[in-house]
Amino acid sequence: MEFSSKLLESAVNEMAQLPGIGKRTALRLVLHLLKQPESQTELLSESLTAMRSNINFCSNCHNISDTSLCEICSNANRDQSIVCVVEDIRDVMAIENTSSYKGHYHVLGGKISPMDGIGPSELTIPSLVRKVEDGIIDELIFALSSTMEGDTTNFYIFKQIEKFDIKTTTIARGISVGDELEYADEVTLGRSIVNRIPFESSLKN
Ligand SMILES: [Zn+2]
Repeated sequence: MEFSSKLLESAVNEMAQLPGIGKRTALRLVLHLLKQPESQTELLSESLTAMRSNINFCSNCHNISDTSLCEICSNANRDQSIVCVVEDIRDVMAIENTSSYKGHYHVLGGKISPMDGIGPSELTIPSLVRKVEDGIIDELIFALSSTMEGDTTNFYIFKQIEKFDIKTTTIARGISVGDELEYADEVTLGRSIVNRIPFESSLKN
């Protein structure tokens, strides 16, 4: 792509670093911004910079939060003895949208993937195991996507906590294999949380 302006080229190149944004799309977005009032670009860049430098993670569940304890963890009406294990904030949002769940979450920050160099210690698994050891959890619900990495992660955690006297369940999927939680429809996802099944029975299938 030949550019008549270095400034334009640099903006397009930065935009094209984002996932799913090719050079053509990047150029379209940048040209769009050029047509808008300058204040819009300022608002965009200011909000991105503020988000990047001030973002916090909840000290309990590791979800992205503006406060040290997120709204879910600090809500006295939520049941802290039930913890749903998810990959990231998108899963929390998807499950919250169903209004079918009143427990806590534990956000792993990814899935075990040796190919990408992600092992258990790169995730928040140690802090989850500590919570189980502390005896505050009665039930752990596995809600990672049914991919190989998701299954590996579930199984790894299960092995770590197997010796403790807690219930382990998994969301009964009406969701086909490989679907990410965030794309599942609310009714199906809500129903599968309510009708969760013992984790061990999911291993036999
Ligand atoms: Zn939290």
